[in-house]
Amino acid sequence: MEIQAIGIVGAGQMGNGIAHVMALAGYDVLMTDVSADALQNAVAQITKNMDRQVSRNKITAADQAKALGRIKTTQTLIDLGPSDLIIEAATERETVKQAIFEDLLPHLKPQTILTSNTSSISITRLASRTDRPEKFMGFHFMNPVPVMQLVELIRGIATDAETFDACKTVVDRLGKTAASAEDFPAFIVNRILMPMINEAVYTLYEGVGNVQSIDSSMKLGANHPMGPLELADFIGLDTCLAIMNVLHDGLADTKYRPCPLLTKYVEAGWLGRKTQRGFYDYRGDAPVPTR
Ligand code: NAD
Repeated sequence: MEIQAIGIVGAGQMGNGIAHVMALAGYDVLMTDVSADALQNAVAQITKNMDRQVSRNKITAADQAKALGRIKTTQTLIDLGPSDLIIEAATERETVKQAIFEDLLPHLKPQTILTSNTSSISITRLASRTDRPEKFMGFHFMNPVPVMQLVELIRGIATDAETFDACKTVVDRLGKTAASAEDFPAFIVNRILMPMINEAVYTLYEGVGNVQSIDSSMKLGANHPMGPLELADFIGLDTCLAIMNVLHDGLADTKYRPCPLLTKYVEAGWLGRKTQRGFYDYRGDAPVPTR
């Protein structure tokens, strides 16, 4: 099936990045969100990020104008009915995602492919609640989407080869690289990355180091481009906690126990960059460690 119209649900940091790369690759994008502000911010963010690409000669001003012209927004979920491919990138909560697919299903064409950008939730379980588990899979972009090369493609137990191939063709057209992952909690990247971030939070919690020393140690000692706490702020601490909970529940191993300090930050609403405060405070000119 030829994919041309892409419906994106959730216009947060991932949704806007996905819209950005899809529109530049020539797809027609319709993006929806429950929040009008999120939609407005997403378009502003995409414009700003494309401005940067133009100034660095990565794309031309004409590419930008064409791509921005391909992005439409709506607050009405069912407007996404005519899409060929749905990419759900709403908040990492299973009930939220299930409700989105449930509301959308009656309005879709029978051949529309459903995907979720979830970082950790079972694709098989999300798929099983739809009328087309064979046309459902995980389409997992990395943050920031315009910059990161990898897309994890995750087959649920019922996903058919045609659906996988159609999604792989989209990844190829984006100029990105697909990695195929089996449907187990958090797939490949987050199965490895999140326990490391969680361990960094334990290291902070137990006073082994402070925010600054932990991040510099991993940057200078392990050659990571960002420290784990800086990276956690970038990802969103609520998303990190949600992924650790999925690993803990899904694999039933205490080694995935979320650090109580991570829970505390989330309870405080200190979710990282998106709320201007997490392991660092971003409200001033330069980020200041909060511990
Ligand atoms: P975010 O908080 O920036 O954005 C989520 C958006 O979903 C918000 O704008 C919210 O208003 C919207 N939303 C919530 N309920 C909705 C509904 N019922 N209908 C439509 N929109 C709804 O989160 P994010 O970081 O963009 O993450 C989105 C998804 O992408 C999550 O599943 C997350 O696990 C996954 N993901 C995140 C990252 C990351 O680094 N942040 C990386 C890969 C994948």
